[in-house]
Formats: sequence, structure tokens, C-alpha cells
Amino acid sequence: MDYQELEKYFRSLDRSFFVDGDMKKYAYLDEPLPIGYGQTISQPSLVLEMTRILATEKDSKVLEIGTGSGFQTAILAKMSAKVYTVERIEELMEKAKKRLETLGFSNIYYKIGDGSKGWPEYAPYDRIMVTAAAGVLPDELVDQLEVDGRMVIPIGPPDLQELKLITKTGDGDIHIENMGMVRFVELKGQYGWIE
Ligand code: SAM
Repeated sequence: MDYQELEKYFRSLDRSFFVDGDMKKYAYLDEPLPIGYGQTISQPSLVLEMTRILATEKDSKVLEIGTGSGFQTAILAKMSAKVYTVERIEELMEKAKKRLETLGFSNIYYKIGDGSKGWPEYAPYDRIMVTAAAGVLPDELVDQLEVDGRMVIPIGPPDLQELKLITKTGDGDIHIENMGMVRFVELKGQYGWIE
């Protein structure tokens, strides 16, 4: 990954464009902010750190679970070839899609639905970014990860989770590394928390 390019784009991306109304004035704080429907846009430093850990390449095909505001999606789309993004809340997805189209992205594919099941039609993915917390690692997502691929996912109870880096080796073995403590909203759905 070109970390200099990542930081340059990250600094240039106006976070206030991804939140509504009253929240715009708080957009430059390094804090999560509400985006409606009980969901949040993550704190920017965490978005940057998770993108660094995911380490996309220019030719990466990326699956993102939890489009939310579209802020993380924009960064992934800038730093990879294609992004397949899944969001369960239709209203959030519509707003995110409009923002990302306004920014000129044409390498993002959108799906409204249960991302705990991934998006099997376009698997395998070189990278998988999950921005909502699962209780356990969903097998479906591991199955959709390419050999030598990387997945970043928060795992743990609703109040505090461990950020995990999952790598799949050439012989199909899974390696799990703990990257620190985080707090994310729940990944709802069949392989997440019950809705
Ligand atoms: N990365 C986003 C951003 O930059 O704004 C923030 C994501 S927010 C912390 C988590 C998102 O995951 C929410 O929008 C929530 O609706 C979504 N989500 C939760 N469970 C999901 C599921 N099973 N499938 C798809 N999206 C899900």
C-alpha cells in the first residue's frame, strides 16, 4: 500500500460532507458521530488505522461490510481497484451512494442487505473490511477471503471488542492477530447479532 497517498487522500477528504445538519460542525473532531438510525461514522483516526492495517493494493478487490456514511468507502475506493459495499439500512445506503457518486467514484458496487453473509456472487475478495462488531468471526466471510488476503474485523461483546486482522495463507490456514481494543456498533444479521 502507498501509505503517503493514503494519508494525502485522508487529509483531503472533507468529513463534514458525510454527516448531516448539526453534526457538520463536529466533523473535524477525532470522535465518532451519529449518522441516524442508531449508527455512527467512526472516529477518523480509527478509519485511517484500519485502512493501514487492511493494506489494500491498487489492484485489490475489496468487500466492505457496513457502508454507513460512505466515508470509509471513499478511502477504500481511492486505494483499491473495486469496492463491493454492503449496508443493511436502505436510507443510509442511499445517502452514502449519492455522496460517493458526487465525488465521482465509478468503482463502487452497492448492496442493501445482510453483510454478515458477505456478497458471495463476487467472491473471493483480496481484502474484507468489516466496520461493525461481530460476536464471533463469521465463517461466511472467511470463506469469501482470497488466499493471501487480509480481513479487518472487530470481534467481541457489544460494549468493547478486539480489532482482529485475519490472514489466509497459501494452504488455506487462517491466522488471527489482535490489533487493539475498539468500540463499534453491532453487526446485525444471520452471522452477527440477532436483529
Ligand atoms: N464505515 C462507516 C462510515 O465510514 O461511516 C461506519 C460504519 S458504522 C460504525 C456500522 C454500519 O454497519 C452501520 O451503518 C450499520 O447499519 C451497518 N451494519 C450493521 N450490521 C450490518 C449487516 N449485517 N450488514 C450490513 N451492514 C450492517
